[in-house]
Amino acid sequence: MGYAFYTVFRNGEEIEAGYGVDTTCEGPDCAEQIDRGLAHLCGQTPGGDELGCGGYFCARHLHIGPSEGTGDLCARCLARARATSAN
Ligand SMILES: [Zn+2]
Ligand SMILES: [Zn+2]
Repeated sequence: MGYAFYTVFRNGEEIEAGYGVDTTCEGPDCAEQIDRGLAHLCGQTPGGDELGCGGYFCARHLHIGPSEGTGDLCARCLARARATSAN
């Protein structure tokens, strides 16, 4: 997945993704300039997967996931992943 530009569907909407795409962190009230590379992705799959929302976040708003298989997660998805695995 080393592509600078590609498009993915997220919530039924086609978006540009890749580390060549500049964007702003999707965290609350955050204006950090980032790109849509995998390093900033919530979850492991562009567009979202079971645990990740597919959002893009700066280092302050992206947290190490509960296990290696989850990838890094935003605060909202991390809370949900923890709640799910506690069952
Ligand atoms: Zn998320
Ligand atoms: Zn941020």
